[in-house]
Amino acid sequence: MEILSIINEGSKLLKKSKISSHLLDSEILLSTIIKKKREYLILNPKKQISDEKLSIFKDLIYKRSLGKPIAHLLGKKDFWKDEFLVSENVLIPRPDTEILIETILKLCSQKKGLRILDIGLGSGCIILSILREKKDFLGVGIDISKKCVELSRKNTIKMGLKNRIKIFKSDIDNFNSGKYDLIVSNPPYINRFDLKNLDRNVVDFEPTLALDGGLDGLFKIKKVIEKSSKLLKKNGKLVIEIAYDQKDMVCKMLNYNNFYVNKVVRDYAKKDRCIVSTKI
Ligand code: GLN
Repeated sequence: MEILSIINEGSKLLKKSKISSHLLDSEILLSTIIKKKREYLILNPKKQISDEKLSIFKDLIYKRSLGKPIAHLLGKKDFWKDEFLVSENVLIPRPDTEILIETILKLCSQKKGLRILDIGLGSGCIILSILREKKDFLGVGIDISKKCVELSRKNTIKMGLKNRIKIFKSDIDNFNSGKYDLIVSNPPYINRFDLKNLDRNVVDFEPTLALDGGLDGLFKIKKVIEKSSKLLKKNGKLVIEIAYDQKDMVCKMLNYNNFYVNKVVRDYAKKDRCIVSTKI
């Protein structure tokens, strides 16, 4: 069967299952299977694909039609300037989280040799992206999930950062080691009510552990702030991702814990997404 017909068939099936990115997804899956760029598909619509590859494609289209995220089907996701390994045990890196990277890089443009901590590092996408950009920074990452620790270690090796980061399996309450210039976190912050209403791609396939912020969504954020207040050096910075409606409450918590709020940064959809604060 030729490329163009395969893509169209795949796209049609996904559309029937109400996958809004049906054409793009069909193209991404086929291009990955034949190990070519998407452009190749468009430039070679008549090229024949083997039956073996076609059956792999059909299987992936079926799984996608059930809502399984593309990142899980491919086992990877692009974030900032790198490709990260992902699995169903970690939150898939979100484009919105790149706001944190942008913000931190601006904040640290003149800084050298900082020690940074990522609380709940997941795939490692935040801290590893920063370490890649800032060649003399050193990092520590913690996560309560053993699977996240294993996966983020794989990403560390893939990116050649093994000597610049230590990753520990630990919950936030029991981690008391070191003093940091910068702490970053994208903690679970979805409240229980919204959790049920999230897109089925997210709620059926991504780990609840990485999303569930308790009844009000603020339970884990509060823990991150309290712990950071102990682990940050004086004048150290805390950069934290929040939900669009949590700015006021989180600012209050920060002030209560002796932080000065420097700024609230919005994402590309103009929603509050990230708070920068300083330990005073
Ligand atoms: N931004 C993610 C989402 O909306 C949630 C991430 C989180 O809870 N930290 O799916």
